[in-house]
Amino acid sequence: MDYYSSQISKLIEELSRLPGIGAKTAQRLAFHIINMPEEQVANLSNSIINAKRNVMYCKECLTLTDKEVCPICSSPRRNKRQIMVVENPRDLAAYEKTGKYDGIYHVLHGAISPMLGIGPADIKLKELMQRLQGDVDEVIIATNSSLEGEATAMYISKLIKPAGIKVSRIASGIPVGGDLEYIDEVTLLRALEGRVEL
Ligand code: ZN
Repeated sequence: MDYYSSQISKLIEELSRLPGIGAKTAQRLAFHIINMPEEQVANLSNSIINAKRNVMYCKECLTLTDKEVCPICSSPRRNKRQIMVVENPRDLAAYEKTGKYDGIYHVLHGAISPMLGIGPADIKLKELMQRLQGDVDEVIIATNSSLEGEATAMYISKLIKPAGIKVSRIASGIPVGGDLEYIDEVTLLRALEGRVEL
């Protein structure tokens, strides 16, 4: 039944498609938006469209950026011989916030999950292997400590080791199943410093 005007129902429907937004929250947001000044609504919708249109994968590390090569990869201060492998751009951001890591990254955009039917070809692994053709001293695997993250770490280390490149895994201390993005900076740094060679 359509309790509201079809325009509002449409807005509620679109909002409820977003992750973590249930029907109630979608309703609350929809009414909030209706009550916002028109200029603010225009800013919101424009920023959504602009982000979608102008954000792309960095040519090197595949994080999301609005330049061909992201600021991290193009910085002369970063150690290009040390690559930290993370599952997504949010995890990269978590490590960047510590301000203590001076290597570069590789973003997989996912993790291997046989349960969900996500295999090695579905994440950015081929791109990682291509990057390793260059001069690389160490690959630090910083996938999450979930089942998928561990399976991915194992798979990557088996893939890379024959190339003679040092492969390490960030230390535990990160709670099992814990998403990197929710972990405090001290714990992240400790995990990085305590990394073990695989
Ligand atoms: Zn990059």
